[in-house]
Amino acid sequence: MAQNIEEILAGMSQEIRTPVNTITSFARLLCNTDDPAKKRRYVDIIQTNCSLLQNLLDDMLESAKGTDAPAHVSEAETGADNARNEKVDVQDDEIPITSEHPKHRGVKPTLLVAEDNESNYFLMSSLLEDDYNLIHAWNGREAVELFSEKHPDLILMDINMPLMDGYEATRNIRQLSGTVPVIAVTAYAFSSDRTRIMESGFDSYVSKPVNADRLLGEIARLLG
Ligand code: MN
Repeated sequence: MAQNIEEILAGMSQEIRTPVNTITSFARLLCNTDDPAKKRRYVDIIQTNCSLLQNLLDDMLESAKGTDAPAHVSEAETGADNARNEKVDVQDDEIPITSEHPKHRGVKPTLLVAEDNESNYFLMSSLLEDDYNLIHAWNGREAVELFSEKHPDLILMDINMPLMDGYEATRNIRQLSGTVPVIAVTAYAFSSDRTRIMESGFDSYVSKPVNADRLLGEIARLLG
């Protein structure tokens, strides 16, 4: 039972960390842009994620009152893609995702970004799109498929994803290429997770909330 509670709290922590990460990161981007359209979009994202956070906290309070707390929270925990489909879906109409830049294709290094959370992907693409050609995978399975098809120069791999997680996707990709740099990008908090990541075929590790300098620095370092 104690372990169960630990898992529930870890799940809650993960759920909360996603919107907090997004709010923090887009606040930073907001400070660094003069483009009015981008400012509007970033403020929209911050407001949407504040609402999401509020709803999450309300849900948790409700769960704590009822007897269905474990079931309810484990649903949220395992449903990274459900979170996207249900809660973050609000943003589908609001955030135009531009994952490819035909003008520069073939000139910039190509990065495959495996990330199941739309807000997180939008943050990554905002940080990277000026310097890199981006390919987006929504889950680990898609990441393996897109790696085979597109042969990216580097991979940014979320760990917690639906259908196939980042560990399994990286194992599969490692059978196809022993050399492509793979950076784990994850909100996992425990040092045991970090150890497992570094023993699972990844070249590096960037924790969420993503620090832009660290992310860009690791990509540049691994692309040599
Ligand atoms: Mn994820």
